Amino acid sequence: MDDRPPPSRHLGLDLGGTNIKWVVVERDGDDWRPLERDHVATPTADGPDAVLPRLVAVGAEALARCPGVGSVGIGVPGLYDPATGTTRFLVNFPGGWPGVPVAGAVGGALGLPAFLINDARAFGLAELRLGAGRGASSMIGLTLGTGIGGVIAMDGVVVQGHDGTAGEIGHQTIDPDGPWCGCGNRGCLEAFARADQIAAACGTSTAEEAVARARDGDGRAIEGLAQIGRYLGIGIANMIAVLSPDRIVIGGGIAAAADVLLVPIRDELRRRVRTTSLGAVELVTAELGTWAGAIGAAIHGAETAAAADHPAATGKGAAADRHASVGAR
Ligand SMILES: [Zn+2]
Repeated sequence: MDDRPPPSRHLGLDLGGTNIKWVVVERDGDDWRPLERDHVATPTADGPDAVLPRLVAVGAEALARCPGVGSVGIGVPGLYDPATGTTRFLVNFPGGWPGVPVAGAVGGALGLPAFLINDARAFGLAELRLGAGRGASSMIGLTLGTGIGGVIAMDGVVVQGHDGTAGEIGHQTIDPDGPWCGCGNRGCLEAFARADQIAAACGTSTAEEAVARARDGDGRAIEGLAQIGRYLGIGIANMIAVLSPDRIVIGGGIAAAADVLLVPIRDELRRRVRTTSLGAVELVTAELGTWAGAIGAAIHGAETAAAADHPAATGKGAAADRHASVGAR
């Protein structure tokens, strides 16, 4: 008897500082297939009063083009409270959006269960289910860009921690006396290897230009990227020692640079990883490009809604109950 549920559809919204991307994915068992996608500009400067209605309008258009959607997941570029669906701090949004009820506003207007996820975790979830992480038992992912996002997946599940902040690989301390990071700590991996640091290390105005010059054989750019790759390698080696992943996925806005960075990263891993065999660790570039965040948000909404419907089957109900009881104390 085949008791598999029928295929279902799920909306993902990826709230970025420049664009809101949406995708509707169809789930059929373990298969996820993007059906439709599009994007519109984010009215970031006008604040939540403008952005939330835009999110709702984008969602409504997606539902009109792709009927039958059962849940919505929303990727946010920052910190949020998973229990209430409110944002805590979005670094690139004016005012930081403390306490904005994004999930409630969007889910209520669309009539769908709605769940937030950090955008880097959404990227990782998408790569894990249908991209470069597919088939991995455990995976770590990094998104290289304005900041450095991170994600950890163990035994096929993206680790969220109690508040959705697990996997902040970019905010591990690499040098206790290093440069200040935007998070308030000093010496974070992000403080060494974010896009503007790549440009600075290579003597270029942008990270993209640094990569292009390195490809053309420019000595300073090659040396600068080797230095950045070394820091990334240190951070990844730490993760390998702690988590023993079998897949490492490098993505993000400058993922195109990944091939130039992979060589120094691998060199550093060979120097530092002593506890496990590097031969069993695949270091790869992401496959889903700029749509990974929206796809992952859709998957997160689908999986969270399913867990809420069938708590006994997943064990997540018990965790949710525990969460609620902690919050009530
Ligand atoms: Zn930091």
